[in-house]
Amino acid sequence: MPQKKYRVLVAECMQEISSFNPLQSGYDNFHIERGNEMLAQEGLNTSLGGAFAVFRDKGLEPVLAIGARAGSAGLLSAAGWKRLCAEVLQAVAMQAATGVDAVYFSMHGAMAAEGELDPEGHLLTEVRRMVGPDVPIVISLDLHGILTDRMLRQVNGLAIYHTYPHVDFASTGQRAATILHRLVTENIRPTIARVVIPSLVRGDELITKSGCYGELIREARRLELEGQAMSAGIMIGNPFTDVPELCSQVLVATAGDAALAEAEALRLAREFWPLRHRMQGKLTSLARAIAQAATIPGPVIFTDAADATSSGATGDSNLILKGLREAGYKKRVLAQIVDPAAAAAAHAAGVGATVSVGLGGAIDAGRFSPMAVTARVRLLSDGQARLETMKTGLDAGPTAVLEFDNYTVVVFSKTLSLFDRAMYFANGLNPTDFDLIVVKSPHTEHHMFEAWADANFNVDVPGATSANLKSLGHTICARPMYPLDADAGFEPQAVIYRS
Ligand SMILES: [Zn+2]
Repeated sequence: MPQKKYRVLVAECMQEISSFNPLQSGYDNFHIERGNEMLAQEGLNTSLGGAFAVFRDKGLEPVLAIGARAGSAGLLSAAGWKRLCAEVLQAVAMQAATGVDAVYFSMHGAMAAEGELDPEGHLLTEVRRMVGPDVPIVISLDLHGILTDRMLRQVNGLAIYHTYPHVDFASTGQRAATILHRLVTENIRPTIARVVIPSLVRGDELITKSGCYGELIREARRLELEGQAMSAGIMIGNPFTDVPELCSQVLVATAGDAALAEAEALRLAREFWPLRHRMQGKLTSLARAIAQAATIPGPVIFTDAADATSSGATGDSNLILKGLREAGYKKRVLAQIVDPAAAAAAHAAGVGATVSVGLGGAIDAGRFSPMAVTARVRLLSDGQARLETMKTGLDAGPTAVLEFDNYTVVVFSKTLSLFDRAMYFANGLNPTDFDLIVVKSPHTEHHMFEAWADANFNVDVPGATSANLKSLGHTICARPMYPLDADAGFEPQAVIYRS
């Protein structure tokens, strides 16, 4: 008898939001691939790219429904969520009706919409309703996602990123697809143990290559590689996604051994808890960072993690530029900023022209105000590029390089991820040509900036993704929560999900 070709429904819905970004995102923030368009991810370092490779290798037939991805942004509007949700579920329903043996759903986990603070939970509940109780559903997640009880009740397996800064997108998709293959070909009823840790974490100790978080992740990886766990991971949530189940949490899934899943999840959670103090952002005041930078001969990085567009901030903060200008910093500065009006003014004026613009403060007006500059338009572009790590497309809209005094600033029309150098290179700039580079991301891959810089200052300025978590004003997540509540306690308890 020929071997049965298992049919796997494939869907994706990914966004990460900051509740503290005043600008809501909408349907138009999403790049949507329908059916065969999803094959554009083949060969890319993305979860779907990794999963597709395994499906081909194992002889599984992907049944392509829909993929929707948005850059990090503010809370998704009610109207945006309604339309997106309807489209995703309609596409899934159409393919589910053709009869499928399993579902792979690629998610981030840190979505939230006006009126629906657990969009992924809603989607998975509906998908489960469509495919029935016996079809395995496996999801992949960013370690910054918020995996909820509602989500866990619907899924049979999961794979979670093991690296930060993230580089293992494809391998996470591969792990999800491998679990899925086991679930359809072996008679396995997985058990997932979840231990919630009332702590939000940030800072350099989260860098998995060097930080203490990485030491724990290596234990999770070991459990997977030794085969004790089908999957294991430690999710830290996006601390800026203020939703009821925001937390850190350990997940261990086994092929049915609940005691083992529980014991390992509890062990990792107990090891995590005392490290929470170390896993906090260490910030330097702007004045101190500027004063020290002036005395350092080599290039320095000013990390503006508070305006990290990849975590959901607006990208229009000019606070570091203002501080440098007021302090009279004289060396060459390179920065990026989102300001559609300034970009439009530069495009209207043309290359070589001089424009007077109010730079920045265009979106998060509660935190930032425009900075008057008269600048020369050095270069104009359409703002298209590809991320260095994932090779997926970036679209900044009309983009301009403005020069004034000792400053070179890339000005974008749209908020976009800035966790690598893609938009510098795409606009004819090499960060190594400058003395001070502003990076709007809490961390980047080491070789991109830190490898050649003499210092990296994590500057304490306001923003929708400030590592000064107490400054943000969480109102929805469970309390007490460290460090919002210094006295938060922890009594480790595992919740077991059986499928
Ligand atoms: Zn992430």
